[in-house]
Amino acid sequence: MNKSMSKNILVINCGSSSLKFSVVNSQSGDQPITGLAERLGDQEALLTIKEDGKKHPIEIPHGNHSTALKALLTQLEALNVLDTIKAVGHRVVHGGENFTTSTVITENVLDTIEACNHLAPLHNPANLIGIKESQKLLSHVPHVAVFDTAFHQTMPESAYLYPVPYELYEEHGVRRYGFHGTSHRYVSMALAESLNKPLSELNFISAHLGNGCSATAIKQGKSVDTTMGLTPLEGLVMGTRSGDVDPSLHHFLCNQANMTIDEVNNVLNKKSGLLGLSGISNDMRTLEEASQSGNQRAKLAIEVFCYRLAKQLAALAVPLGRIDGLIFTGGIGENATNIRENVLQQLSVLGFNVDIDQNKTAGKNQNGLITQPNSTPAYVVSTDEEWMIAKDTEALI
Ligand code: ADP
Repeated sequence: MNKSMSKNILVINCGSSSLKFSVVNSQSGDQPITGLAERLGDQEALLTIKEDGKKHPIEIPHGNHSTALKALLTQLEALNVLDTIKAVGHRVVHGGENFTTSTVITENVLDTIEACNHLAPLHNPANLIGIKESQKLLSHVPHVAVFDTAFHQTMPESAYLYPVPYELYEEHGVRRYGFHGTSHRYVSMALAESLNKPLSELNFISAHLGNGCSATAIKQGKSVDTTMGLTPLEGLVMGTRSGDVDPSLHHFLCNQANMTIDEVNNVLNKKSGLLGLSGISNDMRTLEEASQSGNQRAKLAIEVFCYRLAKQLAALAVPLGRIDGLIFTGGIGENATNIRENVLQQLSVLGFNVDIDQNKTAGKNQNGLITQPNSTPAYVVSTDEEWMIAKDTEALI
């Protein structure tokens, strides 16, 4: 294919043992090829490419990020797609205070991302590997970094500072950063577009509810507060993460349960949330089924999830004053009808009045609207982080 026909952006999201990718048509937003390399470094390492709804698994035993990328590019070449890639957009978890928007990756940008590694030790080093390996293999096209934190850099000090000695902020960057920015930004833009109103005149609360969960107050298109903080552990109850707990819990568990600080951190990140409360699963679908069959712990986990979510959504109304829309998105937000109904019922204090029928179809025939005409409006909006990363990349090249 002729290079002048280049139209696609390759979007890469690199984890410590995984690499998600999507080929995004930068004009239409279509994603003709998507996929995932998982269990990297393991004997079972596997690259799965999904094209036209069909999955093609490719074994890459002991393959690392570089092997996975090479195998992916070989496949893209075989599908006549490689030459259509005009840029690569990379998801980067933490940009600290250095990045307020997406940016073209230069040597200087790489160094600055690396300087944020201590803020996201599980994520940023993996993101950097993904960038460096793909720069080697696709050296002829520009690479762009899109940060999870950047959207939240508009939060005022009153929202991002913790009430701890100010020197901890100055010397160690201890503050709230917020995450899932790409998703919060995308759904707010998408809803404004479907309402046919300028985003600069709208106030939204967006609830991204997937395995990780966070909610953001978006005033006239800008994030003014969010539930995640220094790390993605703060805030809402999540699949395996606790969200907010008493800050003394670490000390308490070290003393009372003989745990090390790393063990406490592991419990709060990997064994808490829906999984910890239910003792069954981190997956909302599984818990809803278990709860319907009478499992009390699954029911309890859902109740805690919904109550805490409602409480924190109400708190996000404070910086907005007026709410033009509460947005549900992510796997749970887009699909879990009962969770949305439960949360909206608990939020009647803010004027929410759910429309049971519209909620069942996720407001399919009315721009995602799931509330009654007299209600503060709530909407279901499907998130599309890949499309947002591709759009940013396109805008910068
Ligand atoms: P990730 O954060 O990994 O991208 P997703 O956004 O895909 O995750 O969300 C995963 C969550 O969405 C899981 O808890 C899953 O059970 C939940 N989910 C997906 N579909 C449904 C459904 N139909 N009903 C209830 N929960 C659902």
